[in-house]
Amino acid sequence: MAATMNKTHRILIIEDEPDITEVLKYNLEKHHYQTSSAGTGEAGLAAARETLPDLILLDLMLPGMDGLQVCRKLREDPRTRDLLVIMLTAKGTEADVVVGLTLGADDYVVKPFSTTELMARIKAVLRRVEHREEEGEQDLLKSGPIVLDLSKHQARLDDTILELTLSEFKLLSFLLRKKGRVFTRDQLLDAVVGPGVFVTARNIDVHVAALRKKLGKYGSCIVTVRGVGYRFEEA
Ligand code: CA
Repeated sequence: MAATMNKTHRILIIEDEPDITEVLKYNLEKHHYQTSSAGTGEAGLAAARETLPDLILLDLMLPGMDGLQVCRKLREDPRTRDLLVIMLTAKGTEADVVVGLTLGADDYVVKPFSTTELMARIKAVLRRVEHREEEGEQDLLKSGPIVLDLSKHQARLDDTILELTLSEFKLLSFLLRKKGRVFTRDQLLDAVVGPGVFVTARNIDVHVAALRKKLGKYGSCIVTVRGVGYRFEEA
């Protein structure tokens, strides 16, 4: 769609001081961002999970669940782990900043901040990710809800991370790369353990069985081609 050229980014503000929220909203909207806000960590976390915004401005000093806890919870949940987070911090809270960045926050801005600086940071973080997505495209293998992220060595089924052994991961990526094509057990073994390693071709059946089980109802995408081997059919 042509509209994606000028995609409006959605920004969630998690901030307990209404005055700051108002100023942020006013400036963000002036720069054509769509905004929403939450006044507590709990409400912010719920809103993030519900709306999956493009970026979150997260105040660290919040009553109840503080910003670091919010950040930790966001990163623990596969649905929200990749959301962009810019922390809003007070002067003299560098230790919190370090913790936040370790937890996976993308950047931070120290209060009181200038609007110009904040806008520049937001732009930079959004641009970094768009660039990463373009570059990373060939690192993703997909079929329906099955996603293999080769750069992260991670397999997902919808939002659930699949715990695959190294052999299972190699096997699935090999099959996904060439969907529809049949491979013999020996070819698959070469792909999984490397050529010249002495294991019986039947070992591949064990890997396939385990993989099918982990893929649940999508296990049937790995089709047994009788007398030949296996192929992957689009999920
Ligand atoms: Ca605060």
